[in-house]
Amino acid sequence: MRLSRYFLPVLKETPAEAQIVSHRYMLRAGMIKQASAGIYSWLPLGFKVLRKIENIIHEEQARAGHIAMQMPTIQSADLWRESGRYDAYGEEMLRITDRHDREMLFTPTAEELITDIFRSYVKSYKDLPLTLYQIQWKFRDEIRPRFGVMRGREFYMKDGYNFDLTKEDALHAYNRHLVSYLRTYERMGLQAIPMRADSGPIGGDNTHEFLVLAETGESEVFYDAQITDLKFGDREIDFDSHEQCRAVLDEFTSRYARTDETHDEAVWAEVPEERKRTARGIEVGQIFYFGTKYSDAMGATVQDSEGGKVPVHMGSHGIGVSRLLGAIIEASHDDKGIIWPEGVTPFHCGIVNLKQGDDEADAACESLYASLTALGLEPLYDDRNERAGGKFATMDLIGLPWRITVGPRGLKNGVVEVTSRRTGESEELPPEQAVEKIA
Ligand code: ATP
Ligand code: MG
Ligand code: MG
Ligand code: MG
Repeated sequence: MRLSRYFLPVLKETPAEAQIVSHRYMLRAGMIKQASAGIYSWLPLGFKVLRKIENIIHEEQARAGHIAMQMPTIQSADLWRESGRYDAYGEEMLRITDRHDREMLFTPTAEELITDIFRSYVKSYKDLPLTLYQIQWKFRDEIRPRFGVMRGREFYMKDGYNFDLTKEDALHAYNRHLVSYLRTYERMGLQAIPMRADSGPIGGDNTHEFLVLAETGESEVFYDAQITDLKFGDREIDFDSHEQCRAVLDEFTSRYARTDETHDEAVWAEVPEERKRTARGIEVGQIFYFGTKYSDAMGATVQDSEGGKVPVHMGSHGIGVSRLLGAIIEASHDDKGIIWPEGVTPFHCGIVNLKQGDDEADAACESLYASLTALGLEPLYDDRNERAGGKFATMDLIGLPWRITVGPRGLKNGVVEVTSRRTGESEELPPEQAVEKIA
């Protein structure tokens, strides 16, 4: 992409309404624009990162054997009456009446609709296990939308639902989601710690939230310091193996890690004093096993091997896709701007032409642009007639992992400069080697 043809409305001033760094940088970098309280337009740069995050989620869901689909955002109130949640959900639910006076709502989550789909088609235990998921916009009329995309009213969420014959199988689905989520967050450059949590309006007893540690997080968390040494890494795992998934769950949940909702002083007292940590965290996902709560209420049964009808065991599993942009920025930035992890960066590198209009500099930039593109990478070429200082400030703000700086002086010696956004270190290299370094 050439910056002269892109739409990147960078702000020089820090917007007064933004209280936390991720919100400030997302506004300043022209990633989002507020449409109304807690509702945002996703401008090209923000949209690109959102898509990257979404793609990682799809890839990891496929790896775990889960099946993608899409449900509507507007739903009929009738299904929600069947489960009893139409009344129970309260003011967070946005209720809508259509022209025929039918009660509708904007989906805050989709247990009812997916259970209805399931019961309409699946009749036999032979069709289980089954895990379906979607990535779809949700609406919750939050009392205090704030911090930009972190607590929006409209937000993008991955929600997955497992259907299993037995509790044991459903707990395997739960464990499988935990493993899959560990991989997913790590690919985004995040450490998200599974913590024992409270189930809230979804219901059920088994639930973990995934928290990214950050001062601006809304949850207070208590954990054993040893937990931050754990990495999932690129281990191979058989997602069908109950034992393997269970072992990962044990490894990642055996140390104390709880949010304020489930914090227990008596258990906490057993953690050695020097390993106790109290901090704040951002909830970027949550997994639930809730048994037959919805299948009982909505009659989602299958025939078991003896011909009897049994309600299916279910769980649901969410990732805050749009909130993740905020969480990643909170975890990875400096005073100049965002520092994108490689896995989610909107462009792989920036090319800064120090002397736009200089034949040699222009030609060198074009050639770098072509070589990087030919390798399947996406460079962002700042080809505007701007001063170098302004170009650098923009690149630092939007946080691409690499910057290649091209100017007549370097080119006389056959070199360009490659700078790492994260370390700030620069190296002078011939253009071909600069490309190799980034690729
Ligand atoms: P919170 O405690 O922050 O209100 P929640 O527990 O109500 O979140 P879940 O029902 O667990 O949310 O939804 C799954 C995920 O969706 C959450 O882990 C979070 O990352 C994301 N999410 C929930 N509410 C919002 C929101 N208002 N804005 C952005 N993301 C959200
Ligand atoms: Mg909530
Ligand atoms: Mg919560
Ligand atoms: Mg939650």
